[in-house]
Amino acid sequence: MTAIAVLGSTNMDLVAYVPKAPRLGETVTGREFRTVPGGKGANQAVAAARAGGEVRMIGAVGADDFGVRLRAALGAAGVDTAALRTVEGASGTAHITVDDEGGNSIVVVPGANGRLTSLEDGDEARIAAADTLLLQLEVPLGVVTAAARAARAHGVRTVLTPAPAQPLPPELLAATDLLVPNEHEAAALTGLTDARQAAEALLQQVPAVAVTLGAAGVLCAARGRAPLTVPAPRVRAVDTTAAGDTFVGALAVALGEGRAVREAVSWACAAAALSVQRPGAQDSMPARAEIDAFAY
Ligand code: ADP
Repeated sequence: MTAIAVLGSTNMDLVAYVPKAPRLGETVTGREFRTVPGGKGANQAVAAARAGGEVRMIGAVGADDFGVRLRAALGAAGVDTAALRTVEGASGTAHITVDDEGGNSIVVVPGANGRLTSLEDGDEARIAAADTLLLQLEVPLGVVTAAARAARAHGVRTVLTPAPAQPLPPELLAATDLLVPNEHEAAALTGLTDARQAAEALLQQVPAVAVTLGAAGVLCAARGRAPLTVPAPRVRAVDTTAAGDTFVGALAVALGEGRAVREAVSWACAAAALSVQRPGAQDSMPARAEIDAFAY
């Protein structure tokens, strides 16, 4: 089993299913409401655990009912939560609208995630024991950078999802092995809307980039190699929430098991394609056997 450490957010997703997302000032009537555990960090942790990784989560939940549920959801997925702190105040929440096309818009209120400000005793050892560290940007940049540096010091592969998009400190980029932006994040980071050009620009800062292209798959680029696009399987998407997190979690497992990049990316695309056909974030993530059966 490949060992994966995740440092990042846990949120309760408050999801409204609507025929069409409201415009500013507009009220629409939704079809259904659900509360489902999410947050980019927790999502990637669950995706990696379902895909067959041995996963430890470093993060923070609030001292509220949501926090209890968030911790339990991670535990139920087989994620080790010994490094998940409970801090004062509210857990993080994400207010999500999913429309009939499967598109989503999201407001994130960080809550406890904003209070994950530094590594604690034992965190560095957890990171050092992993093959791969997964990072995103829904917790303070300082702790993300500290974790990336700890990983680098111990020879652990770091995979950074630069979401929500924001300028990245050079020290964080210097400790990143693989950057996985979606098209919007790649454009926001570089000012270039063409994914291939954006990937090339990002290669000046990190050794490898995988730009996720939604239904079009993934553009992989690494220094000194010709870029390649791995297509996504054609499926009917009902909810693309956490598609990128499912992709990253599965990718970490496949890379940690030593698979070649193309094969690993295509296996992770299979996992993401399975997840978009079902509603929810963590709920929609496929188990390893399912990914193997669907992989192409
Ligand atoms: P994010 O969820 O971060 O916005 P994307 O929308 O690019 O990222 O999706 C991440 C990955 O999920 C894609 O690279 C692809 O593999 C898969 N995916 C997303 N949408 C679809 C879709 N409609 N059909 C098949 N695969 C999809």
